Amino acid sequence: MLDKAPNGKVSDLLGALDKALSAGEIEHAVDLFQADCYWRDLVTFTWNIKTMEGKDQVRDMLKARLADTKPSNWKIADGEDASEAGGIIESWIQFETEVARGFGHMRLKDGRIWTLLTTMSELKGHEEAVGFDRPMGAKHGAERNRTTWKEDREAEAAELGYSRQPYCVIVGGGQGGIALGARLRQLNVPTIIVEKNERPGDSWRRRYKSLCLHDPVWYDHLPYLPFPRNWPVFSPKDKIGDWLEMYTKVMELNYWGSTECKKASYDEKNREWTVVVERDGKEIVLKPKQLVLATGMSAKPNIPKFEGMDIFKGDQHHSSKHPGPDKYKNKKAVVIGSNNSAHDICAALWEAGADVTMVQRSTTHIVKSDSLMELGLAALYSEQAVQSGMTTAKADLIFASLPYKILHEFQIPVYNAIRERDADFYKRLEKAGFLLDYGDDDSGLFMKYLRRGSGYYIDVGASELVANGSIKLKSGVDVKKLTEDSVILSDGTELPADVVVYATGYGSMNGWAADLISREVADKVGKVWGLGSNTTKDPGPWEGEQRNMWKPTQQEALWFHGGNLHQSRFCRFS
Ligand SMILES: Cc1cc2nc3c(=O)[nH]c(=O)nc-3n(C[C@H](O)[C@H](O)[C@H](O)COP(=O)(O)OP(=O)(O)OC[C@H]3O[C@@H](n4cnc5c(N)ncnc54)[C@H](O)[C@@H]3O)c2cc1C
Repeated sequence: MLDKAPNGKVSDLLGALDKALSAGEIEHAVDLFQADCYWRDLVTFTWNIKTMEGKDQVRDMLKARLADTKPSNWKIADGEDASEAGGIIESWIQFETEVARGFGHMRLKDGRIWTLLTTMSELKGHEEAVGFDRPMGAKHGAERNRTTWKEDREAEAAELGYSRQPYCVIVGGGQGGIALGARLRQLNVPTIIVEKNERPGDSWRRRYKSLCLHDPVWYDHLPYLPFPRNWPVFSPKDKIGDWLEMYTKVMELNYWGSTECKKASYDEKNREWTVVVERDGKEIVLKPKQLVLATGMSAKPNIPKFEGMDIFKGDQHHSSKHPGPDKYKNKKAVVIGSNNSAHDICAALWEAGADVTMVQRSTTHIVKSDSLMELGLAALYSEQAVQSGMTTAKADLIFASLPYKILHEFQIPVYNAIRERDADFYKRLEKAGFLLDYGDDDSGLFMKYLRRGSGYYIDVGASELVANGSIKLKSGVDVKKLTEDSVILSDGTELPADVVVYATGYGSMNGWAADLISREVADKVGKVWGLGSNTTKDPGPWEGEQRNMWKPTQQEALWFHGGNLHQSRFCRFS
């Protein structure tokens, strides 16, 4: 039998919140929150992505936004029941504002709000055409000179960007640009995605040959169109490329492949961008109102500068340009770096019969894929979760309901359990000389990803090769210089090399703003990504959200979109 007591408690609280907010009694509303409360708002109240931490910030936000927002009808979400465990009552909630319908999640502790998530489901009057409102497709009846769907699509493709300007231009047609484009298409916002590669999915296809996604299928669905039930757990890169290409087509996106954005500038007076692109060799000037840089957080290679790179006679390239291992059989390979790409490339080179040395310059967090799946993700993103009724939408919202300020507290026990479970594995790696870390505060992979987007490997087999010496390891050293045929390390070791791979990561997306717009705009916007946690490579001040991602920036009408497939799906706000 369902326990109705939590429902009663949540309804009472929502009733009190509704009453206080409707009456503009901000102090009464604030009284309903715990002292250590968090209110995470995705667009609904703030038209931004913001977490209010503590009662003072909740009060300030309400003072600034309540009169405009006019929230009402707070209640337990239709068809849902609140639940109670470990002294915390949780519930899905719904509410309205003057312009939108909202959905959210609430946790109560000692009868007061501990965490509150408010998200905008839809704008009133701009609902997506789904379900009962889906398009008819066919035009029944008889009509002279009628056009077909195909003719309409061709006409749109011929005019958009030429005789009619798009409202939005998205630069970068990887999964980020594509997922956002799909959302804007559903909202009837005229949008062009410009992509310098020829076909959607090419950013995955062009990566090293052995790459398969490190995240599992349940975490990776695209919006509107989930993967079929027979889709592999870890998508091979070319397969994900094909899926993106198919998706772009069936979601009817205006996707300009083989088109490079050359530069963009904003006219503050007309509030309009001038975006210069080269499409199939011809320059075209677009004049959108909004510009999104979805140019990839793993797309601007960090290429190190080492003495002697100009005289090295073998192959040398950044990991993003690594062609695969085939031509390196029996060759000597040196891979600089020790994160995901370095491990994947070392393993593939070893499989192909190369003599491989990994150069580890700083500590790396390693987590075995099956441990991560079982202990880190299974509750929300796994076949068991699906079987027990968890939907992708709910999993995303539960995930989003945990404020970044305290997320590490939920992560630390997970990684402690993983360390215990895989203690022998970690011991063997250390014995081989591998320098491990678990994040500055032992909070593991996900926090490293959110804070700095680097510094880890999800082990799918390469670690065993490191542990048993098949992949040779030089750790705690840097590269001093290259000679014509070797790499000399800071401890004086000389590694003979036919090929050197720089698996040295990627630069901030902010660099794209500098390249395409100006240094001034890039500086005005500031760093992109990171939380401001004051941990390694994530300097403060504390932001409480991902810096400049998916939300308004200091440059009017300029947006950044990207991240992993989960984020591309969930953070497609408009
Ligand atoms: C080795 C590796 C493994 C990864 N594994 C995973 C994983 O398992 N799961 C996961 O979710 N993510 C993974 N990632 C992260 C991955 O980068 C992103 O998930 C994904 O590629 C990001 O998509 P995106 O659309 O933001 O950027 P990208 O896919 O990088 O797309 C950006 C696009 O912008 C285009 N572009 C750039 N500048 C211009 C310009 N001036 N004009 C026109 N086009 C331009 C580029 O050609 C590119 O196609 C991995 C990344 C790497 C490098």
